[in-house]
Amino acid sequence: MSAHLDEVTQAARECALLVAGVRAADRRLLAKAITLAESTRGDHQALARDVMTALLPHTGQALRMGITGAPGVGKSTLIEALGLHLIALGRRVAVLAVDPSSSVSGGSVLGDKTRMVELSRHPDAFIRPSPSSGALGGVAAHTREAMLFAEAAGFDVVIVETVGVGQSETDVANLTDVFVLMQLPHAGDDLQAMKKGVVELADVIVYNKRDLDPPAADRAMAQMQGALKLLRPGSAHWKPEVLGASALRGEGVGALWDTVQRCRDTLAASGELAAKRRRQALAWTWHLIDAGLRERFRADRGVRDALPGVLRDVEEGTLTPTAAAARLLGDSKGR
Ligand code: GDP
Repeated sequence: MSAHLDEVTQAARECALLVAGVRAADRRLLAKAITLAESTRGDHQALARDVMTALLPHTGQALRMGITGAPGVGKSTLIEALGLHLIALGRRVAVLAVDPSSSVSGGSVLGDKTRMVELSRHPDAFIRPSPSSGALGGVAAHTREAMLFAEAAGFDVVIVETVGVGQSETDVANLTDVFVLMQLPHAGDDLQAMKKGVVELADVIVYNKRDLDPPAADRAMAQMQGALKLLRPGSAHWKPEVLGASALRGEGVGALWDTVQRCRDTLAASGELAAKRRRQALAWTWHLIDAGLRERFRADRGVRDALPGVLRDVEEGTLTPTAAAARLLGDSKGR
């Protein structure tokens, strides 16, 4: 009993320490809070939840910006330039990376250590790659927690970066206020060659590396402007804007920030931003419930025992998928 009490007191003490540390923008404790949230251990997660609950009143103030684009388009170059620009304006910047490849292959499209060297050294910046294992709810679920922790630590711009793999773009768009798509002038100039769905998510489209061939960049931008008119608008108040940039030379970075801010202000003034964030919070709740149920289902002993046989029967055509699913779901019920 007293050992249990000790544990409870210890956990409360740790929680208070982490809450105070994050609020004081202690980077080590901020990193620790995020690591706890990413952990698969139940006690770590419980502690992270308590810390998050205590910090919740201090979240929500940041501008949350998503950014996506193919590998090599210049994301880290642009984020470094933008981050330094923001710091010069007196802002504090957190950069979080959602790298879906890291959970699948163990490798990383985003995560080499030479990225954003100058920004990562700056005391007003915090850079955090995505966790390398696919824990409950996927890597993007933890990015949401990391984002909230960073907000509570006073970072007033949070940039969430991802490469265009699988579901990650939609996930990041669902985490952020303003979503930026980076393109290259020459890579698949027409909308058909691009993923139309991603263009539909974008509030701002940036054609990077304009320095390499300015006329080609301008043509691609004009083409995109035309194509955007044909898409259904994602917002009642904001029309997606198309910009050119040369991240390497720092050109277009100020204009990008002005546009992102204008977008966020427009959405906020119309009430669309608040509605969007409410929608996002509910969507994440359901996402986590779905992930939790899936995990419970797979961990169920009855399911584990029956699964191989049932799947084999489906493969051999002796059992329909409908019957198979019903049987397994029935097996898992109430255990
Ligand atoms: P990421 O994979 O999207 O993060 O792309 P990086 O930022 O790592 O950039 C890939 C390469 O493109 C690097 O060699 C950069 O130096 C280069 N690069 C990035 N932005 C520009 C640009 O505006 N102009 C030119 N010429 N090169 C750029």
